[in-house]
Amino acid sequence: MKSFFLTTPIYYVNAKPHLGHAYTNIVADAIIRFHKLLGEDAFLLTGTDEHGDKIVQAAEKEGVSPKEFVDLVSARFQELLPQLNIDYDYFVRTTDEAHKNAVQDFLQKVHDTGDIYFADFGGHYCYGCERFYTEKELENGLCPQHRTKPDFIHEKNYFFRMSRYLPWLREYVAAHPDFIRPERYRKEVLAMLESGDLEDLCISRPKSRLTWGIELPFDKDYVCYVWFDALINYISAISWPDGAQYARYWPGEHLVAKDILKPHAVFWPTMLKAAGLPLYQHLNVHGYWLSSAAKMSKSLGNIVEPGKMRERFGLDAFRYFLLREMHFGADANFSEDALIGRINADLSNDLGNLFSRVLSMLAKYFGSRVPQSEQRETDDDAIAELCASALQNYVQLFGRVQFAQALESLWELVRALNKYVDSQAPWTLFKQGDTPRLAAVMHTLLATMRKIAVCLWPVMPDTSLRMLEQLGQRTEKNEPPVASLEMEITSFEGLAADTELAPSSNLFPRIDVKK
Ligand SMILES: [Zn+2]
Repeated sequence: MKSFFLTTPIYYVNAKPHLGHAYTNIVADAIIRFHKLLGEDAFLLTGTDEHGDKIVQAAEKEGVSPKEFVDLVSARFQELLPQLNIDYDYFVRTTDEAHKNAVQDFLQKVHDTGDIYFADFGGHYCYGCERFYTEKELENGLCPQHRTKPDFIHEKNYFFRMSRYLPWLREYVAAHPDFIRPERYRKEVLAMLESGDLEDLCISRPKSRLTWGIELPFDKDYVCYVWFDALINYISAISWPDGAQYARYWPGEHLVAKDILKPHAVFWPTMLKAAGLPLYQHLNVHGYWLSSAAKMSKSLGNIVEPGKMRERFGLDAFRYFLLREMHFGADANFSEDALIGRINADLSNDLGNLFSRVLSMLAKYFGSRVPQSEQRETDDDAIAELCASALQNYVQLFGRVQFAQALESLWELVRALNKYVDSQAPWTLFKQGDTPRLAAVMHTLLATMRKIAVCLWPVMPDTSLRMLEQLGQRTEKNEPPVASLEMEITSFEGLAADTELAPSSNLFPRIDVKK
């Protein structure tokens, strides 16, 4: 069985979970389920990033120890996952012993090759960013993120000889078009690599300044810089270097938001290269959710709470909206009006209506039992062909993380089926007593609806199974509904004659907007 490994970023625990986190998790879950639907052994890793200055400060503010603080906040992130129906396999924490050991092994390995050196260093340090800035990077002498004056710190530190691997990385990114995707981020990384602004990476903090971190194996007066520590979670969690899971799942793919492009696109591949490990296969980068075209923030009061959206509109409708509305990679606007618009148009009018009218016709004409049918006509074949091509597009686009386009291609099929109902007019065939033709039309509809329901499992897992149950199919919660999605493209098998289906369906009630 082919294996597939995907990671979310590990979330930094000094923040509260918000829509951006929910979106990343939902996308990750959809990708994992998609690969399970292709018959693969898919593994999803998520977790929390728990070291650094900011954690210590946040813990002090709460009047608890750093350890108590990270336990609390990490639990909050973990609790969010079942609420969003995220089918993850492991939750890693950078304060886990296994992770600490792996980071020390990794550091030692890179140190042994001569790619870590000790040097005198003076730099502009922003405590908010937990990093040094070069003179060039500052804007009017201020941190470009925080608009505060960084402290000039002069100290000895350890450096990773990243510069040695940058020419190699530039060639690698240039030669592998889908290593970083979508394309706009690949271009951004190439520009970064060509700018000549990148230098060696400072990877230590003296314990005199910070103790909440992983001790360097070759100098007990220093702890590891948070990014160097955090990135290694992607392999420590699958028991690198000797574990069976590492052998089975690495190299995998990463999913990140655009604000952490540089550590994932530059630091991480050069770290892997220096340690002699295979690179990841893809870095999938998404944009931001905006609210009225502004970034969500507490001070603007425009924060969308995923929990509230789920309670009001249902989890699957919310998941569908996030995947359908955002073109992966670009920013998208979140508004309740847009969400309600999608629920009413796509889910209620197009998809829900198709299920409700077909199932009630089957109840009326055939007592909710699938009739025998042999007589297929050109119109039915046209639907079967359209179905095959829509599914093929869906699989290809989904595999390229183009979820909005994948769903659009599936909806072309949904809308074509609604038109087919209108043009075949089963009610007229019933009146005319043309039972063979009526049976053929119902067969074509039900076979296609079944395939649509299967395709939707990664996006709307519960609804997909409910649709399949209405179609008399056996399902198991959280199990992929078919063994291989690709087989669904090549065969147009109908539902077995005499299967008993639900007499009616109301999957997505319309949402009335009171004016
Ligand atoms: Zn800053």
